[in-house]
Amino acid sequence: MTQLKDDCFAHGDELTPLDVALEQLEQTVNAVVGIEEVPLIDALARILAEDVVAERNVPPHDNSAVDGYAVCHQDLSPDADSRLPVAGRITAGHKLGRPAKPGEVYRIFTGAPMPERCDTVFMQEDVRLEGDDVILPAGIKQGSNRRFKGEDVTTGSVILARGKRLRPQEVGLAASVGRSKLFVYKALRVAVFSTGDEVRDPSQDAPEGCIFDANRFTIMGLLVRLGCQVTDLGILEDDETVIKDALASAARDHDLLFTSGGVSVGDEDHIKPAVEKLGSLHFWRLAIKPGRPIAFGQVAGTPFVGLPGNPVAAMVTFMCVARGLVLRLSGAHDVNPTVYRVRAAFTFKGKGGRREWLRARLEIDGDGLYSAHLFPAAGSGVLTSMVASDGLVEVSEDQTQINEGDLVDYLAFPELCP
Ligand code: AMP
Ligand code: MG
Repeated sequence: MTQLKDDCFAHGDELTPLDVALEQLEQTVNAVVGIEEVPLIDALARILAEDVVAERNVPPHDNSAVDGYAVCHQDLSPDADSRLPVAGRITAGHKLGRPAKPGEVYRIFTGAPMPERCDTVFMQEDVRLEGDDVILPAGIKQGSNRRFKGEDVTTGSVILARGKRLRPQEVGLAASVGRSKLFVYKALRVAVFSTGDEVRDPSQDAPEGCIFDANRFTIMGLLVRLGCQVTDLGILEDDETVIKDALASAARDHDLLFTSGGVSVGDEDHIKPAVEKLGSLHFWRLAIKPGRPIAFGQVAGTPFVGLPGNPVAAMVTFMCVARGLVLRLSGAHDVNPTVYRVRAAFTFKGKGGRREWLRARLEIDGDGLYSAHLFPAAGSGVLTSMVASDGLVEVSEDQTQINEGDLVDYLAFPELCP
């Protein structure tokens, strides 16, 4: 296959900086999936497709934060013990049922509604009972141990915003305002292919010169963790027509297509011409390491990502470049992982001008802070390096030297692949 002279891929043209590429992606990509209403428990790990507005206060009434005795602060003696009659008992879920009277104290339990006049609760450990009276020590602050109506959520406020990935606490908060169902985005339908004449499914024989397919499993795993509905479309041989037909067919009933391999400079790399015949490629060569050859485009309108073939490069480019796209297409708004700062337990000299990710394991130093230790053999085919690592040290384009003890940016695998 001949490369055109003005094909930037055939030349050593300028590499696209990662931020420029990501910015481009962000502007072109919107949620593509439909919306469905699901029972609350099924909403976990899904992406919210509505703004949830509270239709009631939480808590719905002023209530006691402790088991104890409810009083009106005004009825207490400011500088001596007060002796007052216990005139009622209020348990959670039940009201006093009559107006509170001046000078009366009420036995009250955690979560029980405060009687109207009362504004302060003594903890039961702090008082003494004498017959029908209770002895209340001086000095309690007005409002102690009283929870206000609406102090967690006020009626009418937006408690959860569209685009939020729902964790147990968000699902719980929706329940606390009385929602039993939520509108969420439908799972993104993603097709995954591997490419390469040498690549074999692990359930089959691998004749001499062949390798087993690792990428389909790492990529499908990453997609499943991000909440996608994944279709395993197997391995494509290195043939432009085969690749073209398979992508065209998958584009019909998927929201996103992933391949790995076949995006390098070699004559047997057929992804680029295949995709260009079916749609277009937006960018191709990024200033990143590992994984410089990575393809983003569309096949008959369906977004397409061609990851590099080397297993580490495929995973790292998924995590650091494609992950945001997957989440955005799925309807998520905040897609960036937290960048932690940890101490480098290594020295590093880089070329600069590109974003680089180093596989790292964390250890706790004597002072209790984390330091990042690099995996020694760093080839982009060494998948054991990913297994031995906890995350990635991110080296920015202008960082050419890292010294032991420097603080560096660190991306945690549990977050990149939740
Ligand atoms: P390619 O980009 O197709 O030239 O592949 C680069 C390297 O990654 C080659 O050594 C391939 O054999 C290897 N490779 C490609 N696809 C896979 C895969 N699915 N699983 C494991 N290794 C792969
Ligand atoms: Mg290949």
